[in-house]
Amino acid sequence: MTRLFLKDPLAILEPAAAGGIVVENGRIAELVPAGGAPAAPVDEVFDCSRHVVLPGLVNTHHHFYQTLTRAHPDAIDKELFPWLQALYPIWARLDEDSFRQSVRLALTELLLSGCTTAADHHYLFPKGLERAIDIEAEEARALGIRVTLTRGSMNLSQKDGGLPPDSVVQDEDDILADSERLLNQLHDRSDGAMVQIALAPCSPFSVTKSLMEKSAALAERFDCRLHTHLGETEDENRFCEARFQCRPVDYLEEVGWMGPRTWLAHGIHFTSEECRRLGAHKVGVCHCPTSNAVLASGFCPVSELEAAGSPVGLGVDGSASNDGSNLMEGVRHALMLGRLRTGSASAVTARDALRYATSGSAACLGRADIGRIAPGLQADLALFTLDELRFSGAHDPIAALVLCGATRADWVMVAGRWRVVEGQPVGIDIARLRAEHGAAARRFG
Ligand SMILES: [Zn+2]
Repeated sequence: MTRLFLKDPLAILEPAAAGGIVVENGRIAELVPAGGAPAAPVDEVFDCSRHVVLPGLVNTHHHFYQTLTRAHPDAIDKELFPWLQALYPIWARLDEDSFRQSVRLALTELLLSGCTTAADHHYLFPKGLERAIDIEAEEARALGIRVTLTRGSMNLSQKDGGLPPDSVVQDEDDILADSERLLNQLHDRSDGAMVQIALAPCSPFSVTKSLMEKSAALAERFDCRLHTHLGETEDENRFCEARFQCRPVDYLEEVGWMGPRTWLAHGIHFTSEECRRLGAHKVGVCHCPTSNAVLASGFCPVSELEAAGSPVGLGVDGSASNDGSNLMEGVRHALMLGRLRTGSASAVTARDALRYATSGSAACLGRADIGRIAPGLQADLALFTLDELRFSGAHDPIAALVLCGATRADWVMVAGRWRVVEGQPVGIDIARLRAEHGAAARRFG
């Protein structure tokens, strides 16, 4: 067992570790105070004097496949419903090869931005892509990044009053059988798990009530998390009022999802009373500031949700509405949007925005073993330098990461192993990945 000492960081998000961290057996073994030394001998020393050290960032909402349809001429400059309607038929062309490229590219981008755990919401299973979640697990294992893979679903198409066309939905029985297969094969509930499965019917306007209820029952049986899009647009409110005669949060309660097992993507159009109800039931919310700004969806009431008791995490959302997979950019956008929404420059600090992306996100995923720098937790760390011109003259190194706009980590560790070394992902040829993914994306033009 090697004991690695990450020594004398330029700055670190955990004040008790100002002198560094000792990593052993994939975990954080010891925090060293400023000017101190490890309690026991170490085998290796990594000089952190040029590095700002953060807990690895945790992305709680993404659609990896959407990296294939970024800045698509049919979809740009549209709001959510017309944006989706333009893209559904294009996404129906997804096949195994292009999907694998999209997953590899999205995970690599995330790692390079300092992300060590990623949740993907995958709900498209056209013929031939039945193994989508299996492919995601294979790619994540190869890269060494931790994942929560959600078995998404859509079963309410246009002919039944939903938004998506028939070509992209599945039958309820097929969805539930595959969900059960994946939970049996891939869902690891142990401490330090590298792959977990969650269930994720897509949204109120693409899924039946019955599938929402049965997914909740299955999640209870297998002790996994539940995820869906909720409260993203006023269009969704109108849809719920017309179809279910209630608002999205009432609908959530009606289908048995109001509990700590659930985390929601977006959570924008909630009243103060709805925030209090969600908080009282510890429902998590993934804030997606970049996507919300691009689609002009609105502002997530982050402070109200946190004050009410909801964990709030951060997500990049799909790469067709972002149009990137950079979680550090999301941290900066969370700060900016939070200040704009409240009209207060002190409402969201750099450390608040980093909290959403670390401990807040970990809580959304139901994980106590990641998201903080503390003894016994997984050694998931992101190290940034302040060497670029944009940081020159900055005084508070942690605030500088957010305010000066850090986008690229220098070294990234997952479960005690370096997965990004000197800004390069381990085991990935970036030029080759760019060429192969670019070629795969051409069929979606
Ligand atoms: Zn989404």
